[in-house]
Amino acid sequence: MPVDVPGLVAGIRAGNRASVSRAITLVESSRADHRAAARELLTALADVSAGSTTGTAVRVGISGVPGVGKSTFIEALGVHLTRTGHRVGVLAVDPSSVRTGGSVLGDKTRMVELSADPNAYIRPSPSAGTLGGVARATTQAMLVLEAAGYDVVLVETVGVGQSEVTVAGMVDSFLFLTLARTGDQLQGIKKGVLEIADVIAVNKADGDRETEARSAARELAGALRLVYAGGDAWVPPVLTCSGLEGLEVNTVWQRVLDHRAHLGEDGLRSKRADQQLEFTWALVRDELAERLRRSPGVAAIRDQVRAEVLAGELTAPVAADRLIAAYDGDDAQ
Ligand code: GDP
Repeated sequence: MPVDVPGLVAGIRAGNRASVSRAITLVESSRADHRAAARELLTALADVSAGSTTGTAVRVGISGVPGVGKSTFIEALGVHLTRTGHRVGVLAVDPSSVRTGGSVLGDKTRMVELSADPNAYIRPSPSAGTLGGVARATTQAMLVLEAAGYDVVLVETVGVGQSEVTVAGMVDSFLFLTLARTGDQLQGIKKGVLEIADVIAVNKADGDRETEARSAARELAGALRLVYAGGDAWVPPVLTCSGLEGLEVNTVWQRVLDHRAHLGEDGLRSKRADQQLEFTWALVRDELAERLRRSPGVAAIRDQVRAEVLAGELTAPVAADRLIAAYDGDDAQ
């Protein structure tokens, strides 16, 4: 049965949860007819297009290693936001789901109160395909949520790596949660985080851990000040918080909003425009990689080329040329 796009659009605009869920399922689908319907849907919802800033949601990425307390923090933050009149969408980008087909982030069972909140919508990571495919689905899900009136969208992801860079490319501000660490461990955090974090919070600053968390935050803040010394760029503030106890969660959020305000209207517009352009090329690369995987010409010679390269009979450049010629040959047939 063809997708009733106008019906979906009306449902989304009315903030209907079932329509939102159906639309997100649609944008996650890799079926050709679904992708066409998804394009039609997003065009119809286009006045929340990614390039505009007025009336669009606050988009924030939240990351940290497993166990750092992301779900607990998002639960505390989300409930605070819905109590103060916001509508909150939570999406997840989970690289492990790409590999295993499982999905651990954005799991409703880990955000008990928020998942029962009528003003919150939580969606686990799409599990199909590549990281690029997941990013495409998540970006489009974000647009669906914004069209449905969610004014805050939190995108949760895990670890330091490609998934964080991907998420950083789709949000206005990036919040990095970490645990109290010092010395060598700090170096590791700094390296991965400096590139993308706009706000850093040392989480679990409660009970016995509070003092340790505070001194770790001071140490990290000092290191960041050195790195950023001299410029007028935004220096990521380092705070402490406890998602579990609800301590300083609002302060952390305020700093995230401060970062967004620091960008300014023009800065935000150009950041989003740059993200769109970068994303455009990411989609193209992803699609080309997919076509390469599906190519009958490549499939026909892949094993042979592999064997010859492994045996040292074929150099990498020659092997690559042969594979590309086989790929180009698909069109010629
Ligand atoms: P995630 O994997 O990053 O989503 O982490 P979770 O939110 O699932 O939390 C992992 C564990 O840490 C759970 O046992 C939580 O109860 C605990 N936890 C989360 N936040 C805090 C916090 O602020 N303080 C303390 N002491 N424990 C926390």
